[in-house]
Amino acid sequence: MKFIIGVDLEGLACVVGAPGGTLNDSRNFEFARLQGAREADAAARGLFDGGATQVIIWDNHGGSPNLNYDLLDKRCDIALGANFKRVPGLDDSFSGIGFVGYHAMDNTSEAVIAHTFSSATFQWMKINGQEVGEMAIDAAIAGSMGVPPVLCASDDKGVAEAKRFFPGIETVTTKQSLSWNGAISKHPARACEEIHAAAKRAAQRCKEMKPFTLKGPYDLEIRYKRIENADALVRNTGAWERVDAYTVKKTIDSLRDYF
Ligand SMILES: [Zn+2]
Repeated sequence: MKFIIGVDLEGLACVVGAPGGTLNDSRNFEFARLQGAREADAAARGLFDGGATQVIIWDNHGGSPNLNYDLLDKRCDIALGANFKRVPGLDDSFSGIGFVGYHAMDNTSEAVIAHTFSSATFQWMKINGQEVGEMAIDAAIAGSMGVPPVLCASDDKGVAEAKRFFPGIETVTTKQSLSWNGAISKHPARACEEIHAAAKRAAQRCKEMKPFTLKGPYDLEIRYKRIENADALVRNTGAWERVDAYTVKKTIDSLRDYF
């Protein structure tokens, strides 16, 4: 009963960033780092209460490390830093992957900081013709090892996305998104209580959860925000085919090797 919990920041309770800059540049960032640790801790304690023997907390918001690790249950292991393949430490011996603080994918309306890897760079990503966000990509990487997504805590748009991709997953809605930088949030402590309960149910139900798989080789299509990015990719790698001015595509064999 081993689990890994990816922890991003934009989908946490009481996290909305601020107009005109990134979350990291906003006055909300220090709170996000605190709440990310609290929600991760709540998820881990729930999983342990449900029978987990190991929980890896993967601190993965851009610029990791982010979280205050002293706030995590001491039974946790922690994956942090950069320059490794997604999802660090995961193999086919795991019983589930969870998403805490993840957010809606690119191309989602009125969702807090909806993006796929970089809101400044991309309009959307598609795999095999289907738009995907960070939850679907990480779940598909886990799915290639037979590991199911079991838990999602996010804003209402992120939760709707998780339910659409992963029917039966345990979810907690941390806030109702009103805009890119606005929400009505649950109190951070109440969100944590709900995450603890949902994580416990996720551990207890993990054997009935189905892995999320995409069929390889994968047709990866990327639409950039700026034509010059698509120009540069085609010019510098040669491996990408041009779809239109903003959009490129290529076939990849392994999601884990690419992402
Ligand atoms: Zn993030």
